[in-house]
Amino acid sequence: MTSFKQLELIDPLLRAVARENYQEPTPIQAQSIPLLLAGRDILGCAQTGTGKTAAFALPMLQMLTQGNAVRGKPAIRALILSPTRELAAQIDESFHAYGRFLNLRHLVIFGGVKQHAQVAAIRQGVHILVATPGRLLDLVGQGYVHLDQVQFFVLDEADRMLDMGFIHDIRRVLKLLPSERQNLLFSATLPPDITRLAGSFLDNPARVEVSPPSSTVEQIEQRLMFVDRLDKHELLIELLSRPGMSRVLVFTRTKHGANRLVKRLTRAKIPAVAIHGNKSQSARRKALAGFHSGEIPILVATDLASRGIDVENISHVVNFELPHEPEVYIHRIGRTGRAGLSGVAISFCDATESADLRSIERLIGDEIPVDADHVWHSREAATTAHAPALSSREPPSRDRKKAGRPQPKTRPCPRANPSAGAGRQSVVPVRDPGRKPAGSRRRRRRVFRNPSST
Ligand code: AMP
Repeated sequence: MTSFKQLELIDPLLRAVARENYQEPTPIQAQSIPLLLAGRDILGCAQTGTGKTAAFALPMLQMLTQGNAVRGKPAIRALILSPTRELAAQIDESFHAYGRFLNLRHLVIFGGVKQHAQVAAIRQGVHILVATPGRLLDLVGQGYVHLDQVQFFVLDEADRMLDMGFIHDIRRVLKLLPSERQNLLFSATLPPDITRLAGSFLDNPARVEVSPPSSTVEQIEQRLMFVDRLDKHELLIELLSRPGMSRVLVFTRTKHGANRLVKRLTRAKIPAVAIHGNKSQSARRKALAGFHSGEIPILVATDLASRGIDVENISHVVNFELPHEPEVYIHRIGRTGRAGLSGVAISFCDATESADLRSIERLIGDEIPVDADHVWHSREAATTAHAPALSSREPPSRDRKKAGRPQPKTRPCPRANPSAGAGRQSVVPVRDPGRKPAGSRRRRRRVFRNPSST
């Protein structure tokens, strides 16, 4: 097993990953870091949840520090383009975490907020800029952002970028970059338009392909519970009283929701804590320590706060709300069933979440078996989820709404050779024409029939 040290990362980066509690590089990190440090371009087929951010952020930080970036007034040396503001913010947070012992400045810019603070930060000088395409081009047009010194360019989630109609923006950005630079393109799928785009700006790229965290889809028992939104608290309380729910990680979409849930559980005399962005570092550490030791069996987390939670033996993951981004589902459920242990992921779905459910099932290529054996089962939610086609095309998230994003037509890179070991893949058959997406196959759901094993 490769260690971060064997990847020849410099000491401040080794300290930063240790601080994040990363024990060893993920497969994509082990593959990409040496290639990037050697100056190669990369075409990466990998989803969120595989550790791909560190795979590019760590070598970039190292090369920027060792190069001349830190001398003189900071100029933008690294540009990371991301399709959504949420993802952009996450990437920027990662740069903050991994670069905490270095002297490099990073900034995230995205639309939908006033530009004043972003412009002020750019004026101070920035080495690493994470941006969504629209706001980036806006600020370039106004003369605030200059991209003529960019040495590293990352196009993240390229398939989503194209789905969201950003192809022209991407081409405009590419024209603004100097020709001497190192390029990376990451995408969960590699349909022909992505390979064409990759061919237009990557220079003899190394291909890196990695599946979602190895413990996902196959090893984890997944269940779906249809429930009305207002009954979710009660359903969770009932679930938590079942045997075997020893260490449960519950995901909510918002900090507020996490707080409300912990209050309700506490009233029901169920020990639970929340971790989210509004909690101080020491409160987070304390909550994690309690969860780790088993003193507190229920941890309620938002997606951002859950980054870096590395607790073994999580018996159950509960999706109190479904995530808008289907990849996040895979990332969440991968928290259970680690190291070959069995794990259970239970997802609550109310009538407003059927589009999210469809996106998830399309991504995992299967239907999640329904567990209707509980008093809170909602027929309305179940019927909405069964409704064919049209509503599944309604884009759930704000960004998709804006861009009218169509459903992805391709599946994630499948594991071409499962015996090759976790996370390693070969060729990428992007689409299996004989197989319809899960959404169009839906007639009758499989029903989960053994609640006693909960
Ligand atoms: P990403 O795919 O970059 O969004 O990362 C997914 C999650 O994995 C994030 O929560 C990271 O903090 C976490 N992560 C990244 N690299 C490692 C590692 N080597 N060991 C453990 N967790 C990691």
